[in-house]
Amino acid sequence: MAKPKPPVEKNQTIELTFEDLTHEGNGVGKIEGYPLFVPYGLPGEKAQVKVIKVKKNFGFGKLLEITEASEDRVEAPCDVYLQCGGCQLQHMSYDRQLAMKQKQVKDVMKKIGHLEHVPVHETIGMDDPWRYRNKIQIPVGQKEDGELMTGFYQKRSHNIIDMDTCLIQDEMNDRMVETVRRIATRLGISAYDEDTHRGTLRHIMVRTGQTTKDIMVVLVTRTQNLPEKDKLIDEIKDAFPNVKSVIQNINSGRTNVILGKETHVLWGDEYIYDMIGDVKFMISPKSFYQVNPTQTQKLYDQALQYADIRGGETVIDAYCGIGTISLFLAQKAEKVYGVEVVPDAVTDAKKNARLNHMDNAEFYVGQAEELMPWWRNQGLRPDVIVVDPPRKGCDEALLKAMIDMEPERIVYVSCNPSTLARDLRILEDGGYQTKEVQPVDMFPQTSHVECVSQLIRRKGN
Ligand code: SAH
Repeated sequence: MAKPKPPVEKNQTIELTFEDLTHEGNGVGKIEGYPLFVPYGLPGEKAQVKVIKVKKNFGFGKLLEITEASEDRVEAPCDVYLQCGGCQLQHMSYDRQLAMKQKQVKDVMKKIGHLEHVPVHETIGMDDPWRYRNKIQIPVGQKEDGELMTGFYQKRSHNIIDMDTCLIQDEMNDRMVETVRRIATRLGISAYDEDTHRGTLRHIMVRTGQTTKDIMVVLVTRTQNLPEKDKLIDEIKDAFPNVKSVIQNINSGRTNVILGKETHVLWGDEYIYDMIGDVKFMISPKSFYQVNPTQTQKLYDQALQYADIRGGETVIDAYCGIGTISLFLAQKAEKVYGVEVVPDAVTDAKKNARLNHMDNAEFYVGQAEELMPWWRNQGLRPDVIVVDPPRKGCDEALLKAMIDMEPERIVYVSCNPSTLARDLRILEDGGYQTKEVQPVDMFPQTSHVECVSQLIRRKGN
């Protein structure tokens, strides 16, 4: 039977009551059973909504006016919240954000993993869910009077929003961007223009070590030549005594990718350092390092607890990046094997092991789904396996090798609850029991959720 025509039309204004939230944080309201998704709507609210897109089974709307507000609604503190799109949840109280993330994980555990009986704990949040990011990469533009400006792109466009502060960034990052912008304007350095592919400064990137207070500044330029380079460096150093590293990265391509291949140290060190717990890490301009160190510590502490290392264990850390989780585990385990596909990250992981005088961690370059079956065939039988895959989750070949290796415990760290639920189902069918799932809020004010979960091998398997 043909579906009835949607009960709304494009550009129509309607009154809508929101009943639910999508995983992205959009409000969901229904007209005669037909769902409309509306950014910034909260469950329980009534609002005037303009219909902007009508599809066969669902549509999208724009919030015009709230007629009955939810108790969970708060005023977004950021001036450019609605234009920017970097954050999605600033209009929602933090408690509600945490509850929404827990519910999202519960939903997919049930729908995708058929694991409704597995406890999903309350999301571990931050005491102060602002100014948590240790890394900023911000585009540079130029006003008509020649003054440089910095800001993120407006939603679905490449127009730079002129902004002074980003409230989820470490204050130091904000101040550094502002300082570089001011000095560079005075020295007559031009901003890169995407349309004409001319101009010099494309992006300013700043990374800070939360515990060490080290700062790294990376100036991404289109050209090899950076005019007034020495003056620029001197003034940055004068303004920030904690600067340890000033770097130029050259990106001459017509591309959205931020960093180019070529990197020069203009002044200071190639690396800065940071600590997570008792482990020290080197951070280079390109290395992947968790952006919220406060929550990373909580995530890793939980992973370590789930790994239940008592001494003497052999552990595999698949998708190990620069060895962060591996070295955390190597503090207690007898031996840790890490595998990671990016060669530079493995080089960093090895350096990090040496930096911490740990000689019980070995790192290998490769695809986890290829190396794991090979290790299995070589007879490696770890006590614990930790995985921390990218959004698409684990490859089936990897899950199969894990099951064959029969570790007592598996710790699964995930940045995507849907693929987590899918993979937990496969591990369950292979003889493992998911004991619990712990969501951790690594990205307050945004809709991203991180989880860590523990699986135990069923007896008799
Ligand atoms: N555990 C690390 C990194 C997690 S991010 C940390 O907490 O910092 C996921 C990592 O998996 C990235 O470093 C990415 O380069 C790597 N990766 C992606 N696909 C992979 C694959 N097929 N095999 C091995 N590593 C992979």
